[in-house]
Amino acid sequence: MVGFDMDHTFVRYKLDNMYDLMHGALCHFLQDMYPKELFVGLNRDQTFEMKGQIFDTVKGHFIAVDSTGNVCSLRHGSGDRIRDTIKIHSEYPEGKWEHFNLARTFSKDIDKYVAFLSAFGIPAAFIIATVIDWIDENENSVENRKKAYRKLVHHVYDGFNHHYDPDSLVLDQGHFFPNIKRNPEKFLHKVPDTLLEFVKILQRQNKKVFLMTNSRADFTEVVCDYALGPGWRSLFDIVVCHAQKPSFFFEEKPFFQTDGILSGGNSTAFLERNEFVSREKSLILYFGDDVNGDVFAPSHFSNWHTVAILEELERPSILNLGFVEHFFNEDKKSFLFSVINQYSRYCVSSVEMIAKFVIAEANSLE
Ligand SMILES: [Mg+2]
Repeated sequence: MVGFDMDHTFVRYKLDNMYDLMHGALCHFLQDMYPKELFVGLNRDQTFEMKGQIFDTVKGHFIAVDSTGNVCSLRHGSGDRIRDTIKIHSEYPEGKWEHFNLARTFSKDIDKYVAFLSAFGIPAAFIIATVIDWIDENENSVENRKKAYRKLVHHVYDGFNHHYDPDSLVLDQGHFFPNIKRNPEKFLHKVPDTLLEFVKILQRQNKKVFLMTNSRADFTEVVCDYALGPGWRSLFDIVVCHAQKPSFFFEEKPFFQTDGILSGGNSTAFLERNEFVSREKSLILYFGDDVNGDVFAPSHFSNWHTVAILEELERPSILNLGFVEHFFNEDKKSFLFSVINQYSRYCVSSVEMIAKFVIAEANSLE
């Protein structure tokens, strides 16, 4: 079986427009908690738009760590990135980040840290940095600053919950879902023919092909109706929405079925459903962009093979802004690199790269 995540994997977004939308939405939300002037005319800063950054909530630093928890660089608020070992050691004893063991297992604890692992959270990083600068100017004591950093992260998560609340599509509220529904052409790319051909080749090879997304069924319809066209469901053998990855791979939630689309569920039940059982049931290859939900969890908990999608690799502006250093980190492998290296078979910038290869291979055999 071959499966695809939807957002930022099978379906790609026009990232600049998408990030502008998310940036604007979060700025708008935070205006009720912080001075409005902070956000007026605030443009995005691409130096913050890279996967794998960690925000240390306790200290207010963005840090890059290696695969054993050594801090390789830090950046306080929107300040310069510091790589000086003496300075790093003055903030982190022996250069070690004390919560690395939580992060390496992807345990969520926003009072301690926030890891930016998928495109959905990334635009928040620069906004956090901006507010950190303001907190530093306005809070005199270290204790008060620390409290304010923590509060900020909670405010940002309230903003995520508000804008990404799945009900807001039906209720036509918030900045996110209604905007995409109204102007899909502004935010979404059409799925290229190469991907459609890729799926057909897989099916000709008797592989079942599935789409599995955390997005709910109604949003999946909006996205796929535009990106693939109204008949999109017939392209896939199975569609699973609202999968709630990563917990799909370690909890036992039931499946629900509405109009031929499955929602919820878990990886054990996914294989046990009669119609999915096949000779190759133990072999699943899954493509996805979320380092936890699509790469670490399926591989670690369910032995799925994964292909990591890292769109940053084809964004020259990001590559030039320190992503290469941040990701490959000279001689020390970054945390992000080590996870992708350990838990995925391949890491590519898009599904299309693999599709082209498979199509060329199929053509050469004809
Ligand atoms: Mg995704």
